[in-house]
Amino acid sequence: MDYYSKQISKLIEEFSSLPGIGAKSAQRLAFHVLNMPLEQVESLSSAILEAKKNVKYCKFCYTLTDDDVCPICKDTARNHKVIMVVENTRDLAAYEKTGKFEGVYHVLHGAISPMLGIGPNDIKLKELMIRLEQDVDEVIIATNSSLEGETTAMYISKLIKPTGIKVTRIASGVPVGGDLEYIDEVTLLRALEGRTVL
Ligand code: ZN
Repeated sequence: MDYYSKQISKLIEEFSSLPGIGAKSAQRLAFHVLNMPLEQVESLSSAILEAKKNVKYCKFCYTLTDDDVCPICKDTARNHKVIMVVENTRDLAAYEKTGKFEGVYHVLHGAISPMLGIGPNDIKLKELMIRLEQDVDEVIIATNSSLEGETTAMYISKLIKPTGIKVTRIASGVPVGGDLEYIDEVTLLRALEGRTVL
């Protein structure tokens, strides 16, 4: 990319380090930003900075939030004795969009993957077990139906079984290898309603 000046090249390089952004898209985004009004660029960059500085883990469910406790965990109308375990905050949002789940969540921030060297200690599993020392009726495992998601589900269910807490797994209406956030709400609801005891 020598044919661009140093600062333009730098901008393109930064964009191309983002997931799903190839060299061509990175160039398109860079020139788009350069053509934007200054105020809009300032608003974009401050949104990125502010979110990065202020967003943290909810101290109960570990979802990403601006506050110590997320709005879902704060909501006393929800059933805090039913915990749905998801891989990430986007999966949580997918279930929230259905508007039908009245329990609370636990966000693992990943899944166990021996191939990628991600073990049980690399996800928020200890934190889940600590939560389960409270009065909990059911843990619904809603990890993805990928190999990693299934491995994680099996691992968690083995860990929880001795506590006597009911463990369920969402139905496999969710396509194998499917990323939860791309699945429509009807399929998600069907998966939730058709969950089976592990
Ligand atoms: Zn929370």
